[in-house]
Amino acid sequence: MGLSNGACTSLQELAPGVWAYLHADSGWGHSNAGLVCGGDAALLIDTQYTPAMTRRMAAAMRDAGLPAVTTVVNTHANGDHCWGNQEFSGAEIIASKATAEAMPHDFPPGMMRKLLSDELAGTPAGQYTRRHFGAFDFTSVVITPPTRTFTGVTSVPVGSRRVVLHEVGPAHSEGDVFVHVPDANVVFAGDILFADHPVMWAGPLENWIAACDQILATGASRIVPGHGPVVGPDGVHYFRSYLQHVLAALTERFHRGMPYWAAAMDIPLGPYEHLPLRERLVATAAATYHHLGAPKVPPAEVLDRMAQASPDAS
Ligand SMILES: [Zn+2]
Repeated sequence: MGLSNGACTSLQELAPGVWAYLHADSGWGHSNAGLVCGGDAALLIDTQYTPAMTRRMAAAMRDAGLPAVTTVVNTHANGDHCWGNQEFSGAEIIASKATAEAMPHDFPPGMMRKLLSDELAGTPAGQYTRRHFGAFDFTSVVITPPTRTFTGVTSVPVGSRRVVLHEVGPAHSEGDVFVHVPDANVVFAGDILFADHPVMWAGPLENWIAACDQILATGASRIVPGHGPVVGPDGVHYFRSYLQHVLAALTERFHRGMPYWAAAMDIPLGPYEHLPLRERLVATAAATYHHLGAPKVPPAEVLDRMAQASPDAS
């Protein structure tokens, strides 16, 4: 079943009582969410990037006759997955301990507002941020932390059914979690799965590859990425191969002494050439080089290098 709300998002029932809220645009900030319903209870997987976007999502769910959210799970600390938490003040909010620790520091709303300000409008980072994040209104975001944290694996009841949360970070971010709904054969992968080039803030890539294996080990037939359309296991295999390819190519260039930003744009992409947002490889390369022994690159420099590598940089 698919319901379009006319705003480039749709609500799809993947299995009885298991819904995906999907963005047609898989780019920066357009993150998917999910709702698992059991009786009068409902567990939301991820909010949207802003309170207004989150209210639109909640309205779409209400219009579809779905129960009100009683539990929120944040798959990780990036704002596009948790900056709508404030809209669910009566609900329990669950995240991994590492995600809870990262949440106040993860490109905070004040930094985003500064990057979007006139002051930085002439810089590559300011221009890149305007192009990709200028449509989002961060003015009313209040970072709202989880009410419960966990490490490892935990099971959460939703009415008479249960979902299982698997902590698999650090991979894309410090505290990544994917959500398995065993009775529906569905996984909500958070940003362990992307349709476009993924961006790695934490890593190492080996952990991310292992996280893909853990998703595949659930035997789920439908997997909802953090960004992009719903896929089957073949989609996870494809993405895993991408990560392996990038790991090998970056490692080889690291040992050759090529700078991370040059390596990101140098590696041959073969079957992945068509994927949008190649410049994200700059961040992935910076993190990978750090795991190989190079100094950690400050986030501001990563953003600057990424902006300069963007094909539409002026
Ligand atoms: Zn995301």
